[in-house]
Amino acid sequence: MGFEKLSNIIEVELSFKTLSSLSIQAGDQPQTVAESPIIKLGGEPIIPGSSLKGALRSSLEGLLSAKGKEVCVPLAAIPKEHRRQEEDRKKYVKGIGRKEPCDPANTVCPVCEIFGTTGGNKGLSGSAIFQDANVINYSPEQLLERSHVAITRDTHSQASGSLMTNETIDKGSKFKGIIRFINPKEWQVGAILQAIEWLKQLGIGSKKTAGYGQLEITVESIKLKELKDGKWVEVDKNEKTFIDAFVDKLNKAG
Ligand SMILES: [Zn+2]
Repeated sequence: MGFEKLSNIIEVELSFKTLSSLSIQAGDQPQTVAESPIIKLGGEPIIPGSSLKGALRSSLEGLLSAKGKEVCVPLAAIPKEHRRQEEDRKKYVKGIGRKEPCDPANTVCPVCEIFGTTGGNKGLSGSAIFQDANVINYSPEQLLERSHVAITRDTHSQASGSLMTNETIDKGSKFKGIIRFINPKEWQVGAILQAIEWLKQLGIGSKKTAGYGQLEITVESIKLKELKDGKWVEVDKNEKTFIDAFVDKLNKAG
């Protein structure tokens, strides 16, 4: 990413409201996007930027594939048993209608342009940076404790009587976060705005079919910050310019 040529920044400010109670994972546990939409940091719940990034990435992959665009499948999303042998991996990737994970040395797919390439130490950063969303007007009563009996995954039987407690955050909890784009193309901002629409329908995190993970997401503002004659000038933008640019991109061949 050409930080040395930094000339414009677009900041999309988002607000979130939980529409169902959401499970909270401890901040020190390894995070997987699928399992933990909310973690606790410094005593307060946050929606990690990495969760948001992962959820929006898969939404955009789905959206673009559905429109017949070629997008790659991140290496981490290929099941381990298909990763080891090249032939097998290629067959798997083709079978799900995707491209091999993008190589940063070559032209990358539209998803990687925004989110960066995954895996490898020569990865390419994308144009978008996803900040953690912080809780607003928080009070500890919003945290609920739930107990359930641990079930072992293999046998679906009750594990020797261990009672698990997990925390959830109440529905109606509010968060605010920012997605920042560095020197983006307009279609890239539009792609994220469309992916947000998809995410609203799909929900975030695990147990979605049980009604978990439903988030209301609102675009509060889009600000363009441009460097002009050595000074940063800030202008409010509306969604339409960006969505139109994205629709144009979708209608182009390739
Ligand atoms: Zn890619």
